[in-house]
Amino acid sequence: MRRIFLFSIILALIPVFSFGKNNQPFEVFPLNHASMVIKYNGLTLYIDPANQYEKLTPFSVPDLILITHTHGDHYNKALIDSLKNDQTVVVGNKKAIDDLGYGKALKNGEKTEIKGIKIEAIASYNLPPENTRFHPKGEGNGYVLTLSDERVYISGDTEDTPEMRNLKNIDHAFICMNMPYTMTPEKAASAVLEFKPKKVYPYHYRQRDGFGDIEKFKELVSVDPAIEVIFLDWYD
Ligand code: ZN
Ligand code: ZN
Repeated sequence: MRRIFLFSIILALIPVFSFGKNNQPFEVFPLNHASMVIKYNGLTLYIDPANQYEKLTPFSVPDLILITHTHGDHYNKALIDSLKNDQTVVVGNKKAIDDLGYGKALKNGEKTEIKGIKIEAIASYNLPPENTRFHPKGEGNGYVLTLSDERVYISGDTEDTPEMRNLKNIDHAFICMNMPYTMTPEKAASAVLEFKPKKVYPYHYRQRDGFGDIEKFKELVSVDPAIEVIFLDWYD
């Protein structure tokens, strides 16, 4: 058990390195499903921390916590209460911030800047007529973060909305694909081929019958050689 625990910590500490245009590296640590830690310029960002208590142990107190929406695979009030300290800024959709009782709420399309990081909230929702009960328009956020002049898009739970398709100059995109909650690999690939991020990382692909077909997604996106599809280790 202890060995497994240590091994999971070591795995959690293997980042995806990337180097910004002004040579400021940022590092991404996939934790599970929709949750990740990004370290950048001495700051530690937690994205949708939900249920990974033991994997979060190696990381320092968050400077910024970003919440896309309040579903249990993205949001855990008790965990966020326990992670933050007085220096932590929490940014989320209105429902999350209302539930927490602290933090800064962003509506779809709103922007802010926290500790030098530009944050833009991008609408994330299911398209009618299907499944809008899961993610109604106007409730959840995806985010575009500007780190080291690189623009990082985190989709949250969404389909291939016009807001996603109209994104510009995205260097790194984390794209959900699971059914019935978000979208198919085909829809995800179609959107990605339209907004053309330089690198795309499928995430949030666990679903009721196993996993979304990320290989299919990669095959569909491969028609554009300028887009690199990168698989990270999201699931134990
Ligand atoms: Zn959701
Ligand atoms: Zn989700």
